[in-house]
Amino acid sequence: MHTTGPISGRRPTRRTLLKAAGAAAVTAPTLAAVAPAASAATVGAAADWDVIVIGAGFAGITAARELRARGKRVLVLEARDRIGGRTWTDTYGGQLIERGGTWVEPTQPYLGAELTRYKLALEEDEPISTTWLPTPKGPRQFTPEDGFGRMGTVFERMFDGTRTYFEKPFQPLHRADLLQSLDKLTLRDRLTQLALTPEEELLVNGQTAVYAGGSSTAGAFTMFAHWWALAGHTNAGWNDTMRWRIAKGTKALLQAMVDEAKPTIKLSSPVASVNDTGSLVYVTTTSGTRYSATAVVVAMPVNALSTVKFSPSLPAALTTATSQGIAVTNAVKLWIHARKGAGRVYGQGAEGGSPIPMLLPFKETSEGMLYVAFSTDPGLDPTNTAQVKKAVQQLGVNLDVIGVKAHDWGRDPYARGGWAFRKPKQLTTLYPEVTFTSGRLSFASGDIANGWSGYIDGAIESGLRAARQAAGEE
Ligand SMILES: Cc1cc2nc3c(=O)[nH]c(=O)nc-3n(C[C@H](O)[C@H](O)[C@H](O)COP(=O)(O)OP(=O)(O)OC[C@H]3O[C@@H](n4cnc5c(N)ncnc54)[C@H](O)[C@@H]3O)c2cc1C
Repeated sequence: MHTTGPISGRRPTRRTLLKAAGAAAVTAPTLAAVAPAASAATVGAAADWDVIVIGAGFAGITAARELRARGKRVLVLEARDRIGGRTWTDTYGGQLIERGGTWVEPTQPYLGAELTRYKLALEEDEPISTTWLPTPKGPRQFTPEDGFGRMGTVFERMFDGTRTYFEKPFQPLHRADLLQSLDKLTLRDRLTQLALTPEEELLVNGQTAVYAGGSSTAGAFTMFAHWWALAGHTNAGWNDTMRWRIAKGTKALLQAMVDEAKPTIKLSSPVASVNDTGSLVYVTTTSGTRYSATAVVVAMPVNALSTVKFSPSLPAALTTATSQGIAVTNAVKLWIHARKGAGRVYGQGAEGGSPIPMLLPFKETSEGMLYVAFSTDPGLDPTNTAQVKKAVQQLGVNLDVIGVKAHDWGRDPYARGGWAFRKPKQLTTLYPEVTFTSGRLSFASGDIANGWSGYIDGAIESGLRAARQAAGEE
């Protein structure tokens, strides 16, 4: 096992170093005091920083804030020219849009606490007026109540028993005894077990396939079951997970965290290597700049960990996780701008059907309407409006497409995947080791949360935990 216990048990803290240097008093670092050269000179120690955080997504920014609150000198190294990672607030059609993570649920505990802390309001999606769902005779229109109700009836059968095997959803292995056999199942295995009618199968397999990255054979049944449990074990709870957004965008929450903690953030600084000598950690960027710290929080996507050279090498569970991948690698999110006409329509396709299996209405614009859509089909060119229009037509929805804005998260070098969706056996074989420390390193990512893995809430949860580990508190 690669856990080595609290980091602080093996190294002097900044406070003890200052005492050793004869400093009369230790004060919380002011902004001026976070300049690395001055700090290193003061303590006479070799470390430029107390903690380096690699990655400025929700996990990294949360960890940085928590460590600053503990008086640590924190440097955040971010590969991109922006913070936010797999969340990305942008504009399109005159509206604020999210090119990555979007929906939040006020009952998600870690996210909810942040909304309260920074007094950030949520905005509710306007209600869907009609749903197009696949049937054996082709796409059919349902009222939202009927359509989502029918889907819910199948999901309730599918996830029957979660109250027992995910009795404590934030301790996912609380009933490891029951999960051993369930975690071997793919979503496809579970659908087969239920012996669904063709009508029932078509109501849900587009959703199971898209979440798992394109095929129900790719994703673990326990992953979706875990989300269902976290959402309160009900269809209503599950539907609520795609209902609320942060009114001012995910960026507003990140910015509030940064404004409070004021960590030093260096953008456009991809990390190439991390060398833990036992007494210090050296972090070197691709441009060759080297920084040192007494602890490092690695807050990169799990799929991208393989792009950094770690010495000593990563713990076995994380090596396996990054080689297998946790986030789905075919994850394209599209924003489709269409002229008025189709209205507030929800479209869902069958597994293996349309290259765009999920379409949701967003907001009216001066020219028409914005829709959010997802694709996991590598054959789709999301910049080709004719292809997009045809794919949406396969759902039964006719859109007069004005334009499309899309991001391919799988091909994004600093993500290498979209939302997390574990594969069979990953929960029972990799947890909890993926969350353990290794030497002076701790690991944060929404991909390895105990609760809402694959969500912003999970990223915040992991950032809080990694900060406690880096501070030597656990
Ligand atoms: C299309 C899509 C839709 C989603 N929808 C939702 C949703 O509706 N609701 C929800 O809650 N969640 C959603 N998610 C998931 C959510 O966005 C993520 O779980 C969360 O943002 C992950 O945060 P993180 O900090 O763990 O990782 P990231 O946000 O990926 O942050 C990691 C950071 O590390 C940086 N990095 C990578 N490599 C290096 C390197 N070598 N050196 C330095 N920095 C590096 C990256 O640039 C990035 O900024 C969605 C995700 C996607 C992609």
